[in-house]
Amino acid sequence: MRTDKTNNETFYPGPSRIHLSAFPPKERWDDWTELDSQAWPRRKERRYQLVPTTCFNCESACGLLAYIDKDTNQIQKFEGNPENPGSRGRNCAKGPATLNQITDPDRILYPLKRVGKRGEGNWERVSWDEALDDIAARIRKAIVENRREEIMYHVGRPGEDGFTERILAAWGVDGHNSHTNICSSGAREGYQLWMGLDRPSPDHANAKVILLISAHLESGHYFNPHAQRVIDAKASGAKLIVFDTRLSNTATHADYYIAPYPGSEAAILLAIANYLIQNDLYNREFVRRWWNWEECLEQRSEVGDQRSEVGGQRSEKQPRSGEIFIATEPTNDSNGVAESTNMSRLRCEEDTDGFVQFENLLKENYSSYTFEFAAKESGVNAKTIEEIAKLVATAGTKLSSHNWRSVTSGVSHGWSVARALFMLNALLGAVATEGGVMSR
Ligand code: SF4
Repeated sequence: MRTDKTNNETFYPGPSRIHLSAFPPKERWDDWTELDSQAWPRRKERRYQLVPTTCFNCESACGLLAYIDKDTNQIQKFEGNPENPGSRGRNCAKGPATLNQITDPDRILYPLKRVGKRGEGNWERVSWDEALDDIAARIRKAIVENRREEIMYHVGRPGEDGFTERILAAWGVDGHNSHTNICSSGAREGYQLWMGLDRPSPDHANAKVILLISAHLESGHYFNPHAQRVIDAKASGAKLIVFDTRLSNTATHADYYIAPYPGSEAAILLAIANYLIQNDLYNREFVRRWWNWEECLEQRSEVGDQRSEVGGQRSEKQPRSGEIFIATEPTNDSNGVAESTNMSRLRCEEDTDGFVQFENLLKENYSSYTFEFAAKESGVNAKTIEEIAKLVATAGTKLSSHNWRSVTSGVSHGWSVARALFMLNALLGAVATEGGVMSR
């Protein structure tokens, strides 16, 4: 967007490099004139008032402009709203198609109450007061009679940010139900475990490497505000990696597209993590500052002490805090990259606070997640997984990633996929950074 110096109006550049603007200047939204396309070839003018509104055909909530005909006062069409910071005027096909819902004869206009038996399909119109009083009385009765488990609130897509949850909690009801239960809840769990928030909010536009798994937010028409930023990033040279059993819209744009066995994605992610860990390619300062490594060592020490009490032995690879490791020679593959199958790259430096001990613990704990292990689990060639790992390693703090639905909801322990994915961000320090996740 820029302001046209000649008439002081906002100019929204369209795809044409010559002049055509993509949207009417906002200074004229109160009175906008267009030729009526249906009257063509006659040049019939129609005057509109353009009113910003929101598309809620999905929860992306893109901006729309309602073109209200000044003669009929009816909405003639919807177009994108260039002033919306999320969608920036670019909508998926469902946005402008919202018009078909405005006058849909099947839309529900009033509260309806069932008449007769369930399944008979008979309903009568009731007032809002009647509907609310009836529902409130039933809920109250269940609460008073301590039958809270009989109360369930179901919504297709929660369009608010936790308000309903707080109401239900105040009632002592654990009954918030939505399609999320069988959709993104698995991924949300994985993210929640890592960072206490269930939404990673990737900054695709500024990423260097974008890693998307299965039915992530950007995989179809859905979440076009994200999808358009993936395309922006690609235009700026970012690399796109997609794991999906389907050839999704995003997969067709990927630099690396792999189709692992469903449920094996975490194995690949752990192999990438292991590659970063064994080759010291992670963001050491980020890990030192933000990971709970001290608690990890404490817990391990407590477990070790308990084992000692029952006659257990401390591993030779786990010196106590402050001790120095003696590193052995690393084994290199043909590319000069340390083999991740052995524990030969233990850090050797003075360990004043125990962090080196933690790093060596990481190396030990993840050493079994080799490319070969991931290949066996996933059916994806080990060489390809290695190439992907090397690409991820180049991202630095500009790794944007996302996983939602599908692999996290369709397989046992699917939440671990989102968790393993976020671990890559946490290893690279690509959290709350430009081009990472949780970015502002
Ligand atoms: S992505 Fe499409 S359906 Fe969803 S809010 Fe935006 S325009 Fe509407």
